[in-house]
Amino acid sequence: MPQLTVDIGGRPGLDCRGFCDYCYFRHAKDVPPFGCRHCPPFRKGCDYCSRSVKERYSGFRDLPAIADDILASLQMMEGDLSRITISGGGDPSCYPRFRDLVDLIAGMEAPLHIGYTSGKGFDDPDLSRFLLERGLAEISFTIFASSPELRRKHMHDPTPEVSLSILEDLCGGCDVYGAAVVIPGVNDGEVLLETCSWLEERGAKGLILMRFANTPESGLILGNAPILPGQTMQTVEEFRDMVTSLSREFRMKITGTPLWDPEIGSPFAILSEDGLLDKLPRVTGRASVVSGRVAAPFIQEILDRRGYRCRVVPADKEIACLITIDDLERLNPGDLEGVVIFPGRAFVHDEEAREVLSADGCDRVVVRGPETLTADGETSMGMTRNQVLEMELEGIGNLIRLINQYGTE
Ligand code: SF4
Repeated sequence: MPQLTVDIGGRPGLDCRGFCDYCYFRHAKDVPPFGCRHCPPFRKGCDYCSRSVKERYSGFRDLPAIADDILASLQMMEGDLSRITISGGGDPSCYPRFRDLVDLIAGMEAPLHIGYTSGKGFDDPDLSRFLLERGLAEISFTIFASSPELRRKHMHDPTPEVSLSILEDLCGGCDVYGAAVVIPGVNDGEVLLETCSWLEERGAKGLILMRFANTPESGLILGNAPILPGQTMQTVEEFRDMVTSLSREFRMKITGTPLWDPEIGSPFAILSEDGLLDKLPRVTGRASVVSGRVAAPFIQEILDRRGYRCRVVPADKEIACLITIDDLERLNPGDLEGVVIFPGRAFVHDEEAREVLSADGCDRVVVRGPETLTADGETSMGMTRNQVLEMELEGIGNLIRLINQYGTE
């Protein structure tokens, strides 16, 4: 069923009433293009890795331009629209003609989804009724904390009471997923317990927790670390344990990113499914697989169970999709096989990866791997366990097929 994403443009921080204290785009520098899976073979840098990934829009897009885009997309589609999602670099709640935009979309009579919004731009308590009447079906809403004072202080929400009252009304009328970046000492502990209770009592479907990142290794690749000087971070393990204990205490679904979805058992839920693991192809080739620090041990275990005889090499970066060329430079090429597979979404240019990973004089075959092997907590929030398992079966199956196709005997 066709889906439509409506891109409203906008700049993080600038088109959301100022930066939240923890915003990933705060202090982001205009770093040179990284190179990525979309780049042409002989040029490092394309629209995606030089602009989109940094959300470098010039501001919100005009409503007529958005309307033209919608019309053009609809003309190319066949069948009934199953869902329309509003997303952009800026915050939808701060879009200057938000009500007109929603009216325009409502005319298409498909369920409306609002991708992340902070709600900082919602100042009129009546807005929840307006949205529900126009078919709002799902919204991801950054709550941060159920305390208005904390929202005011750390998100710089000028009207936190109104934002929370709208969130409350929406919980009663559509699927609401709360979201919060967890900053130790600010909105964790008792504050987080209260936030969970607040959401659950009002009928939210779930809460997506994101570990606060403050270092390049934890994902700040735009020259923007630290976001909050002196602020401590949870380790991945501490964060995972926190998500586990919260999910035991509440009925609504609680997931975390980078780890984990306790209900589904992902990422890499397939590890507890012997029958499905047996459906994966056997590994017959020799190739090193580079991955992020969080995923590497999981991938090693899965591949080992299919007969793999080499190493999954962890980069310093925790998240595979955020690996950049400096992470590959820190690996010792001498530890690698003659064939190396690196994460499909890594921000490196293929040719540069080959040069760096062949720096010891051995001319290696370097191959970009599948885009996804599993679902993180943000992705799995709206998925069933079977959907996640299917995704893993396909992604990991493709990885093994690449190892067998390019790997040495
Ligand atoms: S609302 Fe989102 S994009 Fe805007 S400043 Fe806050 S965290 Fe950044």
